[in-house]
Amino acid sequence: DKIRDIVKQFKPYVPGKSKEEIARKYGIKPEEIIKLGSNENPWGPSPKIKEEILKEIPKLHQYPEPVSPELLEELSKFLDVPKENIIVGGDGADEVIDTIMRTFIDKGDNVVIPIPTFTQYAISAKIYGAEIRYAKFDKEKDFQLDVESVLNNIDERTKVIFLCTPNNPTGNVIDKKDIEKIINSTDALVVIDHAYIEYAKKEYDLTKWALKYDNVLVLRTFSKVFGLAGQRIGYGITNEKIVNYMMRVKPIFSLTRLSQICAITALRDKEFFEKCVKDGIKSREMLYEGLKKFKDLKVYPSEANYVLVELKTMTSKEFCEELLKRGVIVRDCSSFDGLGDNYVRISIGTFEENERFLKILEEIV
Ligand code: PMP
Repeated sequence: DKIRDIVKQFKPYVPGKSKEEIARKYGIKPEEIIKLGSNENPWGPSPKIKEEILKEIPKLHQYPEPVSPELLEELSKFLDVPKENIIVGGDGADEVIDTIMRTFIDKGDNVVIPIPTFTQYAISAKIYGAEIRYAKFDKEKDFQLDVESVLNNIDERTKVIFLCTPNNPTGNVIDKKDIEKIINSTDALVVIDHAYIEYAKKEYDLTKWALKYDNVLVLRTFSKVFGLAGQRIGYGITNEKIVNYMMRVKPIFSLTRLSQICAITALRDKEFFEKCVKDGIKSREMLYEGLKKFKDLKVYPSEANYVLVELKTMTSKEFCEELLKRGVIVRDCSSFDGLGDNYVRISIGTFEENERFLKILEEIV
């Protein structure tokens, strides 16, 4: 009876389907399943990580440093921003989102979120009691951000505005001028979510805006191109004052010793990183071209490691079920607010997985 009302309104959380779950349900061997559902890096993490993890094992009885100087140093070099401007989260970028809420939200505050977008922002904001004000990525205009819908929702109680770019699940980027307009119109924190920035055009990267403006936080992660989704490491770049406040309320030991070793090693293996970026983009283009050949699919151009597909003749539920029976996991987008029941998101696979997937698709579409 003492459970908070807001918590009672939450539905059980359903994350993307795992290979293990589908293997159990459909009696398929896990190694035969093609997972194109969670925007991961199909080539996995740097092969150098294994050896470094083994060296850390004898120290596992000791608490980690909240964030080691080596990790901050490597991140600072990778991003070309001072260490003082970086905060690292041990439950991925999700933890940074949660920590933003802990730091900024008071009773009566609101958060502006254009949809369809990453669902975690709204979940996190609700937990801390924020009012959610939805703006929109305009379906009629290939999901371009409707800037006015953001600006019209901002008032003096707006604390945080989430701008996901490239946007999940639509794959497009937000026009820089529009982001600038929003930043300049408010003193609320503008979170620029760059989880997929490594797959976008290099000149689009807005990470340095975290230093240029004092109300910007750029969110990034090791879950995508670095292939470390299973290890849960994310980070934010923002002004030093905000980093200092956020560090006071963040879960203090969430960034485990193994996570820190994984992140440091991944950042040092430049060659593997560059290859994953290059091959990731190639894989996305292969999927885009392959999917475009099906006349009953509308495929959206993407700057991320997935493509959004509109189904013209079936629902996403039917489409995903047919694929699951054949051992392919893609993301049913009906759970994204503001999208409808006929969209799916397909993440990059290895070239061989893409080929098998496109072949299987001929049986369905
Ligand atoms: N932002 C976006 C846009 C995402 O798609 C995701 C993961 N799907 C995250 C943040 C969170 O990433 P993680 O917690 O794995 O670092």
